[in-house]
Amino acid sequence: MFESLSDRLGSVFDRLRGRGALNETEVRAAMREVRIALLEADVALPVVREFTDKVTEQAVGQQVLKSVTPGQQVVKIVHDALVEMLGADASELNIEVTPPAVIMMVGLQGSGKTTTTAKLAKRLTEKDRKKVMMASLDVNRPAAQEQLAILGRQADVATLPVVQGQQPVDIARRALQSAKLQGFDILLLDTAGRLHVDQGLMDEMKAVAEVADPEEILLVVDALTGQDAVNVAKSFSEQVAVTGVVLTRLDGDARGGAALSMRAITGKPIKFAGMGEGIDALEGFHPDRVAGRILGMGDVVSLVERAGETIKAEEAEAMARKLAKGQFDLNDLRNQLMQMQRMGGLGALAGMLPGMKKVQGAVKDMDNKILIHMDAVIGSMTPKERSRPELMNAKRKIRVAKGSGTTVQEVNKLLKMHQEMAGAMKKIRKMGGLGKLGALFGG
Ligand code: GDP
Repeated sequence: MFESLSDRLGSVFDRLRGRGALNETEVRAAMREVRIALLEADVALPVVREFTDKVTEQAVGQQVLKSVTPGQQVVKIVHDALVEMLGADASELNIEVTPPAVIMMVGLQGSGKTTTTAKLAKRLTEKDRKKVMMASLDVNRPAAQEQLAILGRQADVATLPVVQGQQPVDIARRALQSAKLQGFDILLLDTAGRLHVDQGLMDEMKAVAEVADPEEILLVVDALTGQDAVNVAKSFSEQVAVTGVVLTRLDGDARGGAALSMRAITGKPIKFAGMGEGIDALEGFHPDRVAGRILGMGDVVSLVERAGETIKAEEAEAMARKLAKGQFDLNDLRNQLMQMQRMGGLGALAGMLPGMKKVQGAVKDMDNKILIHMDAVIGSMTPKERSRPELMNAKRKIRVAKGSGTTVQEVNKLLKMHQEMAGAMKKIRKMGGLGKLGALFGG
């Protein structure tokens, strides 16, 4: 899995790594090879295009950082773009609700749906210490319900007793009632598959979803089917509210394209990966780890990490210089807010700067939401207002509050904070500014 892609990318990076400086031609040539590697791994063409365009744009436009080679910088950019393509954060299951949390498993026949249901049940029982029940709603395939019962015994997970002749919606109702009465935390519903996506199947899933009101609808698709897996996922998610994807047979020699295209094409996160036939062969899907695996080679990964740290330090240095010059309008504030967040929050940063204790107090409760509000407030101002905050009179404040979906109070708070920061900047300058600040950031 991912092996040939990993090899291809590895050789592209090997060539870049030795270089002292990279020019645009070299980056573009490297990206052509990355593009071929991705296409060979069966990644969908539009996804490949978006990926290489993004990486090229960033790699070409970026200033060369001290202490990393441009080649390493490209590795870092590719790494981040891969993580993003795979869906950024690992997606947790939404199961912390009033029990029973219902997880509905859907997918085509043969995708590994029933096996995955049992694997997931076992994982939730053992790893998350949940009391889990499974129920098979598959009345089409003879012995499907019996298959789940056997898997249940193997995994030591309860299954709903089979009542011959009962239809899927009624089974779902009975399962829900039974799970409630017996105090199960989680109810896993294994629905019927079909050979192809057809309307009968979709209607049945919708009817079951209506009755069971699931927290999660997990779509099981077979990675070996490559781009077909992505197409299947697309048609399913257009009909039912799929919350996540489980890719099975990632242990096989699939080229991995399905995993890489899934998020971009369907908008749905991959939540788990099936890694074998055994009942334990199910893993959480962590985009950062998968990206690391694709890029391969431990030394590249650590280079990437070091490059990341360097980027942070150099960003901090650049910011300190800007602050120290006393050129600090609302545009700068907006840019810095996001960077500061990454450096441990504005409060932490303010504490590092002399003369900014006061600001630290004003911003110590800052969280992401406040940052987003501030960004919206500044975004609703005209360019003129951003560079000359003193223009903000009552009328303008009301307009900006409305435009940003905030309140005049919040607009005032932001302006006050900017004023205090700008004031502190001036003080720093008087104290001899740049030298001291530079030292603070190791510059
Ligand atoms: P369903 O028709 O979708 O319910 O498919 P099943 O659960 O019956 O699985 C079909 C076959 O695929 C079985 O032989 C499973 O053991 C196998 N299978 C399921 N998941 C995986 C996986 O992640 N890796 C491998 N190698 N085989 C799997």
